[in-house]
Amino acid sequence: MPKIPAPSGDPADPGIVFHRHDHAHCAEDALSRAETLSDQRGLRLTPVRRRTLEILLEEHRALGAYEVLDRLAAEGFGKQPPVAYRALDFLVDQGFAHRIRRLNAFTACVHSGEPHSPVFLICSGCNTVAEAPGAEVHGALVGAAQEVGFAIRRANIEAVGLCPACQADEGAASADETTPA
Ligand SMILES: [Zn+2]
Ligand SMILES: [Zn+2]
Ligand SMILES: [Zn+2]
Repeated sequence: MPKIPAPSGDPADPGIVFHRHDHAHCAEDALSRAETLSDQRGLRLTPVRRRTLEILLEEHRALGAYEVLDRLAAEGFGKQPPVAYRALDFLVDQGFAHRIRRLNAFTACVHSGEPHSPVFLICSGCNTVAEAPGAEVHGALVGAAQEVGFAIRRANIEAVGLCPACQADEGAASADETTPA
């Protein structure tokens, strides 16, 4: 098993995402950040925007726009795709959520309001998504691009792999396979 840094319990610590933690704390913290930042920016966290963020905050997972739309529709917010897309666009524009291009999905940000260049760690076993600090990775990318005269407009760095729990499951499964029948 790889060495895993002990999670600090801080929602900003990417380690906690892959461990049992007080997720209500993550969700409350992210929601109150979004409320404060919306106020400061003179924007309205309307009921549909707020509900969309709450849905994304239920887990550290990425949800597709149609999954969000189904939930909103079931709660009476409207059935038309723009209902979900407009709310998701607002959350992404304001940094309250990120778009995970690899999954064509969205995940709530637990650092909104802080400048950060995340690297997304996506578990292909359970679809958990964590944000790891990526300033160095982004810096290296900008440097490499500059060397060839390329101006980066957008860079989404996403790594797909297995979280500690899914690695443990996989280890158990392969141990089963080697057991003689
Ligand atoms: Zn959490
Ligand atoms: Zn973020
Ligand atoms: Zn996993």
